[in-house]
Order: sequence, then C-alpha cells, then structure tokens
Amino acid sequence: MVQIDFHGGVDEIGGNKIHVKGKENSFFLDFGKSFNKEGDYFSEFLQPRKLNGIMDLVEFGLLPSVKGLYREDYLRHCGLNHYEKPATDGILISHAHLDHMGYLHHIRDDIPFIMSQETYLIIKALEETGVAGFNNYLSYKTDFLYMAKARLSKNSNTTHKKANARDIKKNRPIEIVEPYKDFSIGEFTLQSAPVDHSLPGATAFLADNGEEALVYTGDFRFHGKRAEETRKFIKKAKKFSPTTLITEGTRIDRDKNTTEEDIEQRAHELSLSHQGLIIVNYPIRDLDRFLTFYEAAQNSDRTMVVNTKQAYLLNEFAGKGYPEIDDVAVYVPRRTWGLMGGQSQVCFDEEWVKSSEIDSEYILGDYKGWEKDYISWENNVNYRDLQENPEDYMFQCDYFEFKELIDIKPENAIYIKSKTEPFNDEMEIDGRREKNWLKHFNIEVHTGFHASGHACAPEILEMIREIGPESVYPIHTRDARAFNVLKDDGIEVKYARLK
Ligand SMILES: [Zn+2]
Repeated sequence: MVQIDFHGGVDEIGGNKIHVKGKENSFFLDFGKSFNKEGDYFSEFLQPRKLNGIMDLVEFGLLPSVKGLYREDYLRHCGLNHYEKPATDGILISHAHLDHMGYLHHIRDDIPFIMSQETYLIIKALEETGVAGFNNYLSYKTDFLYMAKARLSKNSNTTHKKANARDIKKNRPIEIVEPYKDFSIGEFTLQSAPVDHSLPGATAFLADNGEEALVYTGDFRFHGKRAEETRKFIKKAKKFSPTTLITEGTRIDRDKNTTEEDIEQRAHELSLSHQGLIIVNYPIRDLDRFLTFYEAAQNSDRTMVVNTKQAYLLNEFAGKGYPEIDDVAVYVPRRTWGLMGGQSQVCFDEEWVKSSEIDSEYILGDYKGWEKDYISWENNVNYRDLQENPEDYMFQCDYFEFKELIDIKPENAIYIKSKTEPFNDEMEIDGRREKNWLKHFNIEVHTGFHASGHACAPEILEMIREIGPESVYPIHTRDARAFNVLKDDGIEVKYARLK
C-alpha cells in the first residue's frame, strides 16, 4: 500500500508538495511555493519574517503542518519541538521553478534533496545570484546562533557574537541523479526521466515499491527543443505499467500551442528586418529560449548582450551544448555610485575626479562579490556601446532593468516581449509600468513571442492514454474535472484533496 498526501498543487497551478508514503519509507515530490496562496497574504513589502521561523507561513497554511520536516533552528526559535526522526527520506525535485522548490529553505538539514545535474546548477545560480531571504536551498546555515568570541574589550560583557554566514554555511545532503539510472529510497526503486519544459533539467519520476508503481510527470510539454525527451519518457512510463499516474494539467483548457519553432522563425525574421537596437525580455533560466534569440542575433550579425545573472548561468552550463560566455557580451550596468562608463565625477578628499580617470578597483567596488567576475570579463559592454552602435546588438533587458534605458537613450529600438502574460494583480501593475517606459522611449513592442512550458489538453490526454495507468491524479491544474473523459478509457480519475 502506498499513501499519497497532497499538501499543495491541488486546484491550483504550482505549489506542488506531495508526500508519498510506503510501508517503511517515504519521499516528497517537490516542495514548491504556491504563488497564488502566498500572494493572498504577502507581497513585496509585506514579507514573511525570518524572526518567526516557519510560523508566518504556517499561520496561513502555506507550509504543511507535518512533524519532523522543518529546520531545528526555526522550530526551537518558535518554541516548538524538534523531532529526532525526519518525517521523510528525501525530497525529489522535478525542476528548478520556485513553484516546485521555493520552500526548500525551511526543510531540516538531514533530509536529502534529489535532483538532476541541471536542476542543481539552476538552483545554485538562484541561491548565489538572487536576493537573500529564504534562499538557502542547497546550503544550510543555522539562524539565531551566537558563537563564542574572545573578550577583546574590557567594556563588553558579551561573550558571544552573532554567527557569521561565511563561517557556518554548510552544504545540505544532495543527490544528483542520472536519467533512467535506478536509485533507491529505502523500499522504493526509482528513476528520473528527462522531459521538455521551459528550463533545462526538468524530470519526471518513476517509483516502485513492489506494491505500487507510481509515475509523476512534473511539468512537461511537447513543443520545445526537447520534445523527444518527453516522448521517450512516455515510452518508458508505459513499460513501467503504473498503478498510479500523477500528472500536471496546467493547460487542460487549451487545445493548441505556440511552439518554440514558431518563435525561432519570427525572431529570425524580425532581427533581419530591423536596423536599430533590439531589446529582448525572456525568462533568464529558459536557456532554450536564450538560444533562440542568440541564434537570431548571430543570423543578423549582432552580438547577443546578456546581464550578469545570465552570464553566471552560462558559465555554470559551460560544455552542456549552450553558447558559452565568450560567445556573448556581458552588459555591465551602473550600480551603487554608477562609476562604470566614465561620465560622473567623484571626490577624493577635496579633489573632484572624473570616474574615467580613477583606478578600476574603485569601479569594481560598486558590485557584489559574485558579480565582480563578470564585470571584469573581457568582452563586456556598457550603455555607451549600445548608444554608439545600436544596430550591432541584441540586448537582453528584463523589466526590472529598464533603468538602463535612461542611460542608453535608445533611438529606433524595438522590444520583443518573450514572457508569459500577466496572471495576477501585481503582474498587471508591472505590465502597465512596462508599457509607460516603452512609450516614453518610443520603443515599438512586439508580442506573441512566448511558448508555454506546458502541454495542451489533447497532448495531456493522449499521453495518459498511451501510458495507461490504472488511475490518474490531475494536479497543478484549475480544472481537474476536465480529466473525467478518461473514464471512457477505463482509467480511474482520482481527485487530489489537500491534506
Ligand atoms: Zn515549471
């Protein structure tokens, strides 16, 4: 017997947290953040507090109430029990989107995280280059920890100082799994199966404990650059003769897709026909989408210009079939004092000096630790390059980087929006601001350059029929009822209920 507890992803898109319990052993499928549910209570300026450990999230049912799952430091800090035995033997992460792994920070440090190599690299980039907060996904540092200090000052009565992140940071137990190679979690034998999705490393999982054969799709599609991987997964899953299939159904209300190939073609046409600067905004972790624009840039004799976060990710993925950092130019934004670019003056004691004449060490001081490596990269460009030779570049620029437009002062530029349409209030508001900026700079907007990360209804249903499980749980969907048609195929449709 296997019991499946759903703690998220039920009647909503994302937030998957599924506890699969066998006789002796158990594992979680994903541990994601529900954007909608968190957005019901929190926002950019109303954030859960670290000082209250996990309790700000538990208050609203955003984290499941399961004993033996959470970090000792947070539990003790809230006056709760820390349990000797972990509640589960591992957390399988299907891919590195936050709605599948965004709450890993809160998990105790003796539960292993299991994932593909690419998923590991993307999460590492998220942790290293993202804004600090609850983002110790792969690392673990005890919070609320004082460490003994030597008594340096006679005037100080304190014997301890707050622990420094650098001294106490350690790695969590991580297991990297290879496609279709058996691994085990106690009584379960498992395999990971790569699928096509809107970032590298997405996998489905197959798990068997002799009584149940379970397949979990994660998020998948057939219209990206890796459709073959999804098809191979289906073949393997069929052979596996699953008793239970847990499938995503994000787009069960749609019957066709824009494909990555459509976008490729349009990007090529547009980049050849436009003479000035091309600005493009696409999801940074979607390296296949990056590749689409990189190739369009090459084809129109432009250099692809990426931000430092993209550069970091390309460096991590070196040798994995994507363009490398030397194939692109890294855009160096002005930060802190804005010394890059050489126009402003700074004061040394009493003497004002042009920033073009000061030592590069001062300029580097404007940037964060990890970012420094990319700032000093040989093939970097700044706003002046884009101003002087706009027709030579395709410029990656996210909405939150629009400040750069003030420095670049683009003339005759176009903007390719290659992102999903807004799906909540905050995105709507951002969308209005985005329009205002583009209008202000007289930049022509090109939309319709987005391909979803998810399969559409006929593809999902066809996949389930092909795999032929005894029963199916639709999750990660707002319309589980749409799966009812599968009853005609002799497949039992089960509805997940939140635990
Ligand atoms: Zn996803």
